[in-house]
Amino acid sequence: MSLRCDVVAVGTELLLGQIVDTNSAWIGEQLAASGIDSLLQVKVGDNLGRVTAALRNALAEADAVVVCGGLGPTHDDLTREAIAAVMGVELRTDEHLVGVITKMFETRGRYMAANNLRQALVPEGATIIPQTRGTAPGLICPVSTPSGEKVLYAVPGVPHEMKEMLFRAILPDLLARSGEPSVILSRTLRTWGESESGLNERLDGVIARLDEVGNPTLAFLASGWEGLKVRLTAKGDTAEAATRVLDEWDAQVRAVVGEHVFGVDDDTMESVVLQLLRERGWSLGLAESVTGGLVAGRLTAVPGASEVFRGSIVSYASEVKFDLLGVPEGPVVSEAAAAAMAAGARRVLHADVAVALTGVAGPTEQDGMPVGTLCVAVHTPDGTTVRTFRLPGQREQMRQMSVITALDLLRRQLIAGS
Ligand code: ATP
Ligand code: MG
Repeated sequence: MSLRCDVVAVGTELLLGQIVDTNSAWIGEQLAASGIDSLLQVKVGDNLGRVTAALRNALAEADAVVVCGGLGPTHDDLTREAIAAVMGVELRTDEHLVGVITKMFETRGRYMAANNLRQALVPEGATIIPQTRGTAPGLICPVSTPSGEKVLYAVPGVPHEMKEMLFRAILPDLLARSGEPSVILSRTLRTWGESESGLNERLDGVIARLDEVGNPTLAFLASGWEGLKVRLTAKGDTAEAATRVLDEWDAQVRAVVGEHVFGVDDDTMESVVLQLLRERGWSLGLAESVTGGLVAGRLTAVPGASEVFRGSIVSYASEVKFDLLGVPEGPVVSEAAAAAMAAGARRVLHADVAVALTGVAGPTEQDGMPVGTLCVAVHTPDGTTVRTFRLPGQREQMRQMSVITALDLLRRQLIAGS
């Protein structure tokens, strides 16, 4: 029998629309990926009576409840008190937690207001999920209800703290209770170059086979101009077993759409391209018109970019293209202009590889070229490639998409030539 775990998000700001309850959405996604049913999500303001009632109601229906938010140090953080009321126990100061919290402030050289020690209050009978980042620990609380023995998990509202505790303590605990394999691992394949529906269609066969075996699960996550993510989530009795499942299905996905997979997990297009250049021992120079330096900004945000990145010429005005880069006079949004810009950048910047971008970000067309036109030239020691793309969106989206589009063309040339 599958376990049911519902979610209660605490915070008046959630009701007022000052922040959006992304925590519940994310928790729901993780529970689903772990094969745990989640049938109700509730938002409740910072009010002791209402938080207590919300937790009681949730526990009456579900086997387990995750409550997020309201674990902090201030007077409106009431989740601990509500849990104690639901459990019918007292809050006790945990001396070990007092030490941990005090030390955390000491090592950061910060003054600790006395109310921070509220975070050392633990309902009797609860287990602590030690904090690794913030100061609020999480809690695992057994609750006896008329409908049986239930469990309540409390996590801080701060998303990265909540996520870390969910992965480290809550999902393993839930899976242990449900008698399922207890290790869950995810791997995200990052793609560029194919639409969500296109990827979905090409992966139809893989998805059908996955539906049969049930492990791992596959989800598409759109992330705008960062590309489309394909996430595999696998269960296993051990980390090795889960990793084997991931490896097997990672290979199955790549067998179909591998050309579009540029990286895994924390890889970015820029980190991948820089690594490929490093492997070839080639330096990179840019000539940017439509992106006005955005490509250089993204590349230089990656530590170690200086090993391969020479610089970028922001040749925004046509005269700069002509005078500095030696582009022949004529339409500047064209494949010929892009190729000449790349050749010029390579010469001026003494780079082995050059990428040039020229296009129309809008709002109006230019040289008879519609808004969204992007011409990219990639010049490597293996030869020159020039492409024209039609990108969607308004000015900002078009410019951001130009960055990853151009870097992806470079990536494909570097792979093809190696
Ligand atoms: P802290 O120790 O930081 O006070 P807390 O458990 O008291 O943690 P809250 O005060 O409820 O958490 O929320 C802290 C911050 O976390 C909020 O200001 C908000 O930015 C974010 N947050 C809280 N709840 C949610 C939610 N449901 N979805 C997204 N973000 C949230
Ligand atoms: Mg708080």
